[in-house]
Amino acid sequence: MRHILPVLLLIFLGGCGQRMHEVDQTEMGFGSYIRIRARGADAKKVGQAVQEAFAEMRRLDTLLSLFTNGSDVVRLNNERRLLVTEETRELIRKGLALGEEAGGVFDITVEPLVRAWGFYDDSCRVPDSATVVQLRQRVDYRQVMVRGDTVVLGDSVRIDLGGIAVGFAVDRAVAILKSDGVKEGLVDAGGDIRVFGDRVWRVGIKHPRQQGLIRVLKLRDRAVATSGDYERFFEQGGQRFSHIIDPRDGYPARKCAAVTVIAPTALEADFFSTAVFVLGPEEGRELVARQPGLGAFIYSVVGGSVRELKVGRCDE
Ligand code: ADP
Ligand code: MG
Repeated sequence: MRHILPVLLLIFLGGCGQRMHEVDQTEMGFGSYIRIRARGADAKKVGQAVQEAFAEMRRLDTLLSLFTNGSDVVRLNNERRLLVTEETRELIRKGLALGEEAGGVFDITVEPLVRAWGFYDDSCRVPDSATVVQLRQRVDYRQVMVRGDTVVLGDSVRIDLGGIAVGFAVDRAVAILKSDGVKEGLVDAGGDIRVFGDRVWRVGIKHPRQQGLIRVLKLRDRAVATSGDYERFFEQGGQRFSHIIDPRDGYPARKCAAVTVIAPTALEADFFSTAVFVLGPEEGRELVARQPGLGAFIYSVVGGSVRELKVGRCDE
């Protein structure tokens, strides 16, 4: 059962005195919430566009989920060779190319490791080191082949698109809203956000170690995503273990507390935030600096306090 939160319809005057309507609706999805705010002159059209965008996000959530029986990802992991939906294929292709770009720290075949650390079913624990060594050998995105409409997985490889699926879906929702004539809006899926149109939107970044915000960004026609160690993590022996795993050693990445990336698309923001989180501040800043139009706030804990590193184009 999906929980549908109340739909708000607001009417206000736009920049040039034109009456604008805003639909503001929140639903559950992608293991979190999805909020869409959309503005346009025709209330009915805006409402329809929002329903269409939600329908597309629900469809993608079902298709790309590791936890929904019958999803492309679940079936592919079981059947090893599968004729998949066009979107799944497109996202797998992107995931492979991005893995290459990140030098392997981003790997869509990280599934066996994330499972061993217990992040899928909240059974979090530190696996023994022999298990980590053994599972690490099963993680290799080069073992995923896209042949025509079919995806083929090499021996004992399993995929998890969780590091980029949300960003991909946010971009699709924005494309639908725009093509349906929505002038300006925001799509927020659990903190992976894209805004479009002329308006400047204020987006807060949570402090990784305290209540409240560490920053407020002002964004226009941009996307932002954060990967952090403060929402999905566990502690053992005074150490913090988060849900983003470094495929090179099989252990949770620990160089950053949080990474917020500002990018032209939500897919890029989602991918780069995860990849930089694994790389850490030094190598992460280089990856960001190499991409024109990208910006990042990289947070790490140094001597007990949070240090901020600002890189690239941040639109504050
Ligand atoms: P969040 O889920 O907090 O929004 P991310 O977008 O950073 O965070 O994605 C984290 C998810 O990506 C994990 O839950 C897992 O499914 C997957 N993942 C973990 N480590 C990696 C990695 N090194 N490369 C690719 N995907 C990863
Ligand atoms: Mg991500």
